[in-house]
Amino acid sequence: MKKIKLSLRFSPHLTEKPITYHLIKDYDLVINILNAEINFNKAGKLTVEMEGTEENIDKGLRYLEQQGVKYKIFTKTIIWEEDKCVHCGACTAVCPSRALKMDQKDWSLSFDKSKCLVCELCIQACPINAMDMDFFL
Ligand code: SF4
Ligand code: SF4
Repeated sequence: MKKIKLSLRFSPHLTEKPITYHLIKDYDLVINILNAEINFNKAGKLTVEMEGTEENIDKGLRYLEQQGVKYKIFTKTIIWEEDKCVHCGACTAVCPSRALKMDQKDWSLSFDKSKCLVCELCIQACPINAMDMDFFL
């Protein structure tokens, strides 16, 4: 099994179509929606994790192309260098997906990588460079 993370862009005429339903049903893929946005003209953007066999992922991506959905596969990931972190919380203020959160009891930072949208805002926000980028090989 393989898992990839990707962002999908839907033009307005596609936002009503059950595209993710078909990816699940017809290609036996597990789709985990990490973030969904629809803007004022009804164009949409989804960030998803897609899991399945390599063959089914390829078929699913071809299906997206046939439907006119533009997609971009994530090629990088965010690293939290926990030993450097001073738990100031600055990164949580800019994190759009709540991948970075402060524990309400002891005010320590936690990082849920599966929710990360790789927007890189935390890298700019961290005063001591405890958030960094890594690239998939
Ligand atoms: S890159 Fe940083 S700010 Fe952006 S979603 Fe991931 S953890 Fe949050
Ligand atoms: S901004 Fe940097 S130092 Fe502050 S909590 Fe986030 S990762 Fe830790």
